[in-house]
Amino acid sequence: MTQISMLINGQARAASNGATFERRNPLDNSVATTAPAATQDDAIAAVDAAAAAFPAWAAMGPGERRGLLLKAAAALEAKTPAFIEAMAAETGASGLWAGFNAHLAAGMFLEAAALTTQISGELIPSDVPGSLAMGVRQAAGVVLGIAPWNAPVILAVRAIATPLACGNTVVLKGSELCPKTHGLIIEALQEAGLPAGVVNFVTNAPADAGAVVEAMVAHPAVRRINFTGSTKVGRIIAQTCAKYLKPVVLELGGKAPMVILDDADIDAAVAGAAFGAFANSGQICMSTERIVVDQSIADEFVAKFAAKAQSLPLGDPRKGPVVLGSVVDMATVTRCNALIDDALAKGAKLVCGGKAENTLMPATLLDHVTPEMTIYREESFAPVKAIVRVNGVEEAIATANDNEFGLSSAVFGKDIARAWNVAKRIESGICHINGPTVHDEAQMPFGGVKSSGYGRFGGRAGVEAFTELRWITMQTTPRHYPF
Ligand code: NAD
Repeated sequence: MTQISMLINGQARAASNGATFERRNPLDNSVATTAPAATQDDAIAAVDAAAAAFPAWAAMGPGERRGLLLKAAAALEAKTPAFIEAMAAETGASGLWAGFNAHLAAGMFLEAAALTTQISGELIPSDVPGSLAMGVRQAAGVVLGIAPWNAPVILAVRAIATPLACGNTVVLKGSELCPKTHGLIIEALQEAGLPAGVVNFVTNAPADAGAVVEAMVAHPAVRRINFTGSTKVGRIIAQTCAKYLKPVVLELGGKAPMVILDDADIDAAVAGAAFGAFANSGQICMSTERIVVDQSIADEFVAKFAAKAQSLPLGDPRKGPVVLGSVVDMATVTRCNALIDDALAKGAKLVCGGKAENTLMPATLLDHVTPEMTIYREESFAPVKAIVRVNGVEEAIATANDNEFGLSSAVFGKDIARAWNVAKRIESGICHINGPTVHDEAQMPFGGVKSSGYGRFGGRAGVEAFTELRWITMQTTPRHYPF
C-alpha cells in the first residue's frame, strides 16, 4: 500500500482536515493507495498557487519552457516500471497497456515542448490607415484538468501538457480510482524542475468530486477547464462551466463502430478489430464497440475473429504478461453480465467468452446484435463486443450513425475511394480507413461529436483550445477621427 500527497505550490500536502480515501485493487480488494481527500479550501488553495505562478510562467521564453517539458518527458518515461506497478495495483491494467501509456504520454510532453514556439499570431490588414492589427495568441490563465483512470497517464498528461506549453499554469484533479498513477506524473514534473505553483495536484474522495470541481471552476483565476470522462459526468461539468461562463473541452464516452465492407481484407480487419476491441480489456473511449460487418463476408470474419479473441491471454497482470488484465471494478462485470443476458434473450448468439464471476473478464463476442438489444446502443467499456450484420454500404453507414456517440470509427475495404466516401459520412470526430478505431498521437486533433463531447486536444487544435486569441492594434501614424 502507498500513501500519496497532493501538490500545492510546490509543497507535498495532506488534506487540511487530514481526511483520506482508499483505492483498492479490483481483483483482491487489497488497499492499493491511500490519498488525501481534498476539501474545497484545499482545491481553492491549489488554484491560488497556480494563479500566483502564472505571470512568471507565461512570461518565460519558449526555449526555457521547452527545456523543462523535454525534461518532464524523460522523467516520465523513466518511471515506466513504476507506472506498470501502480496501474496493475490500482486499475488491474496489463503491463502492455501501462507501458504504452507511459510511452505515449512522454511523447505528449515532447510534442508540447515543440509547441512552445508555435504560440503565435498573425498580422491582419486593417482599413484604418496606419493601424498595424494583429491577432495574437496568449496564455489564458489557470487551466483545470480533470482526468479519468482508464488511460491514466495519457489522459492526465494530455490534460496539462499543451496548456503548460501555451504558458498556462495548471491544476490536475486526479481520478479517485488511480491517485498513485496520477501522482507519479506530478513527481516527474517536479523532477524536471518546474517552478512551484506551475503544476498543482488535487485528489478527492469520490463523494466530494462535485463540490471540489465546482469550487475550482468558480474560482475567477480558472479560465479553461478540460474534462475526460463519462458523458453522464460531462453533462454535469458542462452545466457547472456554463454557470460560471467558463470554456470547457469535453472528451466523453464513445461507441465506436468498425465498418467492414464486402471487399475488406478479412485478415487485416480481424487484426484491427482484435486490437481495437480488446486493448486494455475494451476500456478505452475509442474502443471498437460495434463491429458492423457486411453479411456476405460475416461468417468468415466472425470465425476468424473468434479464434483470435479466444487466443488472447487473460490474467492477473501482477503475475505476468497478459493482453486482458482485470477490469476496473465488479460494477463493470455486473453491467456486462446484464448486457449479455439481455442480448441472448433477444436473439443474439454468443460466439466466444461469456459472463464473468470476477474482474478477469474474457474476450466476449455477441453476433446478430439488433437495435432492440441494450448492447447495440450503450457503451460496454469492457471486453464485451457487439457484431451487427448489414446488407450493403447504405445500411452499414446508417447502422454506424445510429448511435448517440461519435468519437472514433473505422472503415475497412480494399476500394479506398469507396471507403473514403463511407468515412466522410460517418458521424464521428475521428475515422480511420483500414486502421483500428483505437489510435492516438499527440499532434492529432482529438475529439468527438454528438454525445462524445466538444473541443479538441492535440497539436494546433490544442493551442487554440488553451489560449486566448486577442486583437491588438498599434496606431503608427496620426489617427483621423470624425469629430
Ligand atoms: P467518470 O465520468 O465517472 O469520472 C471522471 C472524473 O469525473 C473523475 O475525476 C471524477 O472525480 C469526476 N467526477 C465524478 N462525478 C463528478 C461530479 N458530480 N462533478 C464533477 N466531477 C465529477 O469517468 P470514468 O469512469 O473515470 O471514465 C470512463 C469514461 O470516460 C467512459 O465513458 C469513457 O468513454 C470516457 N473516456 C473518454 C475519453 C475521450 O477522450 N473522449 C477518454 C477516456 C475515457
